[in-house]
Amino acid sequence: DSLTKHFPLGGGLFRKPVHVVQAVSDVSFTVAAGETLAIVGESGCGKSTTGRAIMRLTEPTAGSVKLDGEEVTALSSGRLQAMRRNMQMVFQDPFGSLNPRMTVRETLMEPILLHGVASGERARHWVDELLKTVGLAEHHADRYPHEFSGGQRQRICIARALSTRPRLIVCDEPVSALDVSVQAQIVNLLQDLQQKLGLAYVFISHDLSVVRHIADRVAVMYLGRIVEQAPAEQLFADPRHPYTRALISAAPRPVPGLRTASEPPEGDAPSALNPPSGCAFHPRCPLASDICKQTRPELGSVGAGGTLVACHHADAPAPVALEPAPPVS
Ligand code: SF4
Ligand code: MG
Repeated sequence: DSLTKHFPLGGGLFRKPVHVVQAVSDVSFTVAAGETLAIVGESGCGKSTTGRAIMRLTEPTAGSVKLDGEEVTALSSGRLQAMRRNMQMVFQDPFGSLNPRMTVRETLMEPILLHGVASGERARHWVDELLKTVGLAEHHADRYPHEFSGGQRQRICIARALSTRPRLIVCDEPVSALDVSVQAQIVNLLQDLQQKLGLAYVFISHDLSVVRHIADRVAVMYLGRIVEQAPAEQLFADPRHPYTRALISAAPRPVPGLRTASEPPEGDAPSALNPPSGCAFHPRCPLASDICKQTRPELGSVGAGGTLVACHHADAPAPVALEPAPPVS
């Protein structure tokens, strides 16, 4: 709720910061058990920072995060440690997020023991179960990360995330670093696990074809703010924000199992260090008018499909829509 993360730059202990990077501003959403909320946008739009702020891997500047009604943002470090059991994270780089000196068994054992999930023989058994759950053979348990492929490593990271029986997993670009041929396997695994375990996912991605496949709802971020949020089907069928439209029309048609890198819309993304006045998208927006330069549009609902959009001209027809051909007389 209203999650905000601003990074001060420059200044010092007794001096005011010279600049403030507005990485995340006023971001609000919910995600239910068994549901996937995707956060999409260009790199630097604040989606990873949002994920890290949810986990309190970075301290939010303002706003609140609640898990099962419990305020995560207010927890002392001891209580936070206990709460972490319920929320886990899977990162983009499966190699960088595994300790090369620890076997798979040690890697999985660590959070199990740390969080008191199990001990002794039951902990060993739980490790075997976890490996089976993510599709790795038991004999893999005593191997080291370098002995595995990228996809297998991401399976290990997913097993580690599952080891504490979490309710929520924040997945930050979990398949972006993987070979095309492996991406679909990992996405399908995540979906199976969600179904079996009722997990809630916050799924951060720049890849719209993956998002289209996995998301129930999508939040589109631009320069630290959500500019559109809608049920996935609705978002792809009838995007309302000019930025969402540009992202979707730039994305190649989804080809199953194929990686697609979506092109950003024309122009450079302005910086979160000094965001443009009014609507931050106005320097790149084909529909920008005077009010767009002066007043920041608030998120509001449009249509009956559950879409929230922050745009002064959200009711304008899509610029790419084709007029029906006139009747021939
Ligand atoms: Fe474009 Fe104006 Fe809408 Fe911003 S508010 S997206 S500039 S039309
Ligand atoms: Mg990122």
